[in-house]
Amino acid sequence: MKKISLNSQILIGSLSGILLGAVLSTLDKESAASQVSLYIAELLGMLFVDLLKMVMIPLVFTSIAVGVANLRAHNKIHRVWKTTLGYFFLTAIVAITLGLIAANLLKPGKGLQLPMFQDAMENFQAHEMTLPEFFTQFLHSLFQNPIAAMAEANIIAVVIFALLMGIALVIGGERFQNIRIFLQELLELVLMLVGWIMKLAPLCIMALLIKLVVTQDFSLLMILIKFISLVIGTILLHALIVLPMILYLVTGMTPIKFWRGAREALITAFATSSSSATLPITLQCAEQNLHVKRNIAGFVLPLGATVNMDGTALYEAAAALFIANLVGVDLNLMQQMIVFFTAMLAAMGAPGIPSAGMVTMLLVLQSVGLPVEAIAILLPIDRLLDAFRTSVNVEGDMIGSLVVQKVVESDVNQN
Ligand code: ASP
Repeated sequence: MKKISLNSQILIGSLSGILLGAVLSTLDKESAASQVSLYIAELLGMLFVDLLKMVMIPLVFTSIAVGVANLRAHNKIHRVWKTTLGYFFLTAIVAITLGLIAANLLKPGKGLQLPMFQDAMENFQAHEMTLPEFFTQFLHSLFQNPIAAMAEANIIAVVIFALLMGIALVIGGERFQNIRIFLQELLELVLMLVGWIMKLAPLCIMALLIKLVVTQDFSLLMILIKFISLVIGTILLHALIVLPMILYLVTGMTPIKFWRGAREALITAFATSSSSATLPITLQCAEQNLHVKRNIAGFVLPLGATVNMDGTALYEAAAALFIANLVGVDLNLMQQMIVFFTAMLAAMGAPGIPSAGMVTMLLVLQSVGLPVEAIAILLPIDRLLDAFRTSVNVEGDMIGSLVVQKVVESDVNQN
């Protein structure tokens, strides 16, 4: 009998997860069958995410340090850097613009009366902009004691330290040959563990999706259906049209080919709501299925998992306008520009973990004086929306690695 590929197993696992979750939701929540099934699903999901987190930090550190060290020629590093940042900014700008346009056109939350908002509205007063504070905090998180950063899974600080080590390895050259080879072997070793963890993915993703479906509050989802559809619709527009178009224009790769190769990572991102936890699988898919060179993937993907979040940026902009409508405030053009920039900063500052966007969302709300208490209405629906934004965040990273590879290759060929 032909063995089903892991890719297809993951697809089957995720569809069964959604289906089983839907069936479980119809059962009595107190029944033993329902409680036991949910407990097992929670346990499996937790173990899978724990396993991914276990390999995440060693993987980020080694892949970036080795990636940079192997991009030996200085001008190549320069080129990779510039293209990566250019791509991150460009796609974030497009994503936020889409979010703002959609929210301005559809005006979600206008005229919606929610009792839980009365207090927030009564206490409403303009807050001072805390952008400088946020900025300082963001800068402060960049350079940290690497051991502490690793222990706390502070990825951005680990990324920066690994980048510096990689650059030093390049400049030091032959002198640090042994360390470079050691890191390279460590990376291969960690990737071997990732391969084992991936074998559990079909079952564990099924478990994560069962939990996702069962824990939704469907009555609240129906009340906020307009806002939810707007966010999901706009995210899909970005994911299915904008990003694939950039990919096709730059690399000539068709979206179908891309999705086939990226599927495991996109589904894992959806199920875990964490770009960072998905990173091991993202790297694996980019290298093995999409043939991105390890040096490029090892640089672009870990960096992207923490700073490149199109889905989060789009969401934060749209959600700020939604809350403004809910509390009856009209944001003028200038205020929407502030939302634009803070959403960009907030998405960059958000770590790739579940609901991180909710925390940095406070910054966006505060920057235009919206009541931060309003976050209460977003929290119950966040798990669902987070699944979508995380998938597009990861998609953006993977397309970024393909775009950077193409640009750098054509550059080298020209020289
Ligand atoms: N969960 C998202 C991620 O990991 C971040 C967020 O929007 O909350 O990419």
